[in-house]
Amino acid sequence: MSTERIFLSPPHIGELEREFVKEAFDTNWVSPVGPNLTAFELELAQYNKIPYCTALSSGTAAIHLALILANVQRDDEVICSSFTFSGSCNPIVYQGATPVFVDSETLTWNMDPVLLEEAIEDRIKKTGKKPKAIILVHLYGMPAQIEAISHIAKRYEIILIEDAAEALGSKVNGKHLGTFGDLGIYSFNGNKIITTSGGGALVSENKAWIEKAAFLATQARDKAPHYEHTHIGYNYRLSNISAGIGRGQLRVLDERIEKRRQIYDWYKASLNQSGQFIFLEEPKGYYANRWLSTVLFTNIQMGNELTREKVRLELEKHNIESRPLWKPMHLQPVFKDAPAYSNGISEKLFESGICLPSGTQMSQKMVTEIAEKIKRIIR
Ligand SMILES: *Cc1c(COP(=O)(O)O)cnc(C)c1O
Repeated sequence: MSTERIFLSPPHIGELEREFVKEAFDTNWVSPVGPNLTAFELELAQYNKIPYCTALSSGTAAIHLALILANVQRDDEVICSSFTFSGSCNPIVYQGATPVFVDSETLTWNMDPVLLEEAIEDRIKKTGKKPKAIILVHLYGMPAQIEAISHIAKRYEIILIEDAAEALGSKVNGKHLGTFGDLGIYSFNGNKIITTSGGGALVSENKAWIEKAAFLATQARDKAPHYEHTHIGYNYRLSNISAGIGRGQLRVLDERIEKRRQIYDWYKASLNQSGQFIFLEEPKGYYANRWLSTVLFTNIQMGNELTREKVRLELEKHNIESRPLWKPMHLQPVFKDAPAYSNGISEKLFESGICLPSGTQMSQKMVTEIAEKIKRIIR
């Protein structure tokens, strides 16, 4: 078959983005400083109803700077959701600190608050000190139990960093994810709900932190006519060109979220009747951006093959891209020595689930056809 490939989550760029980028070229603002950058930070902060924001070269860079602001140093421990992408926890290791992984609950697939508290208590008992920070991930745009987790972080006085890389625009009781914790991060990588071709942002209510992040992100240049340095800096700033793409994308973000939610509803309507699929529903008061539509198979195995692998490979034959859910970090070879508090839930999700094509240019017909193919494979 010579049909065009259907990707999992391709970029979706319009005319507005082109205009902002053209303006950057026309005015020669092509470096990591300029009007698009300033405006993008302001508009992103306004969208999320948070006062301070700095735009960076990636979500991973944003997490790294968040850890530096949290004063994470060599031999410290940082708690992180196990069920996530490695970008969430790699920066812990950049700081010479140790990640401590905490498993998921079944309501949102995100960090289990009960297990989190057990992990904190146990780390204090074993090491004599508190973990320095908690990195909480909102996976696939579904909010974690943020209120419970935020409460625990406050009680133990541990800095909470929200990894909302996949959850821009998701909310709990009307409040945007990324704004509950001490620091929040977003990603504008090419596959995220909006993109700057590559980029990220750090947000906070703490002005001094965001100013320091911007300082560190531009090689920590002290005020002097020459280059004077009292800190180790990083080259983590977003460019004014990329910020132009971001400004255009921000204006269609709510539209994109609506479409992603619709795609989820279409999959659910087509697949739900048979009882062979489990969908992740929104708990009351939760609003998910549905970055990727995901589904679990009730029969994890077909013969001696994982159902999700069978489905993935069959879809691949039709040039349709799908992907297993994230492989938990506590099962990754590179993190095999890291302390982990697991309950088997993320491992089971990894075995039984799949991410379905969720690009916002898909029609209802395309989504329904993919769903029909899946039903045929399962039968
Ligand atoms: C994409 C992603 C990141 C990293 O963002 P980049 O912009 O790609 O560096 C971090 N955490 C999660 C959960 C992500 O999905």
